[in-house]
Order: sequence, then C-alpha cells, then structure tokens
Amino acid sequence: MEEVLTNPKAGFYINRDVFGAEGDFITSPEVSQMFGEMVGVWAMCLWEQMGQPKRVNLVELGPGRGTLMADLLRGASKFKNFTESLHIHMVECSPALQKLQHQSLKCMDEENTSEGVDKRSLSTLAGTPVSWHATLEQVPFGLPTIIIAHEFYDALPVHQFQRGSRGWCEKMIDVTEDSSFHFVLSPQPTPATLYLMKRCKWAVPKEVEKLNQIEVCPKAMDLTSTLAKRIGVDGGGALIIDYGLNGVVSDSLQ
Ligand code: SAH
Repeated sequence: MEEVLTNPKAGFYINRDVFGAEGDFITSPEVSQMFGEMVGVWAMCLWEQMGQPKRVNLVELGPGRGTLMADLLRGASKFKNFTESLHIHMVECSPALQKLQHQSLKCMDEENTSEGVDKRSLSTLAGTPVSWHATLEQVPFGLPTIIIAHEFYDALPVHQFQRGSRGWCEKMIDVTEDSSFHFVLSPQPTPATLYLMKRCKWAVPKEVEKLNQIEVCPKAMDLTSTLAKRIGVDGGGALIIDYGLNGVVSDSLQ
C-alpha cells in the first residue's frame, strides 16, 4: 500500500493532482472554503488558550492541493498577532503536490537558499514563512506546535488479519502462475502481529470475540505517539480529521 501510494517514481500521489472533479476523489477543503476557515478558528482558539505565544509552528500533514491552509490563512489574515506568530510547515511527500501548494499559498521564494536546507518561502496571503518537508521528523523542534491532519491517516498503509483454524493470520498478496494477484493467509505470525495484539488490548473483549477479520495501521499508531510526544515536549495541540467507523475496523480498503 505504501509503495502504491508513495513510490518516488510511480506512486499514486507523486506525479499528479488526484483531487477534484477531474481527479479521483474530492475532500472537504475542496468542497467549501468554510472548512479551512473553521479549522483556522480552531487553531486561533488554541493559540489563545496557549497564552498567545510570539512564535508557533503550524504543521499540516498531507496538505493535498494546499486549499485548507490557503483558506485558513486568508480567513485569519485580519488577526495579525496570530498570523505574525506563525511559521508554517507543510509535510508532503509528493513533489507535484508541493508545487501546487506553493501556488495555492501564493508563495514567493526567499533568495539565498543554500543547498541542503529545506526550501523556505513567504506566503503573501498573510505574510507568513512556509517550509516544506517530506517527513514530520524534519520539522524543527523547540516551538509550540499546532498540527493539522485532514485525510492523512487514511493514506497510511494497513495490515489485515483473518481468524482461521490457526488463529489470527495476516492477509497477504501472492502472485499466481498467470501473474495475477490474489489474497493468501500467512502460514505463521508476521511482524504486524505485535500491533494486532496492541489493537485488541484497546478494544472491548466482547467486540473482539465476535470478529473474524480486523485491520490495523501500525504507522498511524506510531504517528500518534510521535505527535503526542512532540506536543508533550514543545506544547500545542493536534486536530486529526478522518472519516469512517468509530470502532474496530475490519476492512477499509477501497
Ligand atoms: N489534506 C488534503 C489531502 C488529503 S490526501 C485534503 O484534505 O484535501 C493525502 C495527502 O497526504 C496527499 O497530499 C499526499 O500526497 C500526502 N501523503 C500521503 N502519504 C504521505 C506520506 N507518507 N508522507 C507525506 N505525505 C503523504
């Protein structure tokens, strides 16, 4: 799943704009500018609650076309104390989408960017500096951090398990003799079984007993703990938005 989505040559997100009526799917920020504006209101409230710090990192994970952040900045641009405190960090693995985000935020590049340093620009929507990174780890520590992730978690790779006579087995993909793909069950426990155990511990035992299939997302678990640690150290908050069942998920693939 990770290869299919983010392979540097052929990944789904890597070379093109996949959003909107002409693309493959549509997301809330693309439907209405109110979405980004409302997320901006949330961010400003959090900033107020933090005591209006002079400098804040505003991080967006997987910003797509950059529409949410553009609407947030445009909406917040009248609140100068807030926008002047911001340094925006866009975490995006796709060079094509980074370019689109740069356009959406109406960015001007700073001169003298030395090699090896992440690109830094200024968004003319609210006069805020913007940096791009391929991973969250590259976003500098040391400032209170407001993190937004809209439909980012659902792009992270999942593992699926099925209960059989051997107990829980991981569903894997095999290639048949005629080169087509099909699902098979693992003959023995796989590394992702560790995460299965963790997930089952959080669920209501009665719910787990009834299940024959279950899905886990180790990257989502790790990301959440990374975000929590960062906020624990630097202060701030995170708003994570995704859509789906509230409970144990057995199969979210589409
Ligand atoms: N938040 C946007 C886009 C959601 S789609 C919106 O609501 O419209 C998922 C986004 O995450 C895309 O921008 C995709 O390129 C990015 N992405 C997916 N996997 C990623 C990864 N592992 N690291 C960084 N960015 C990733």
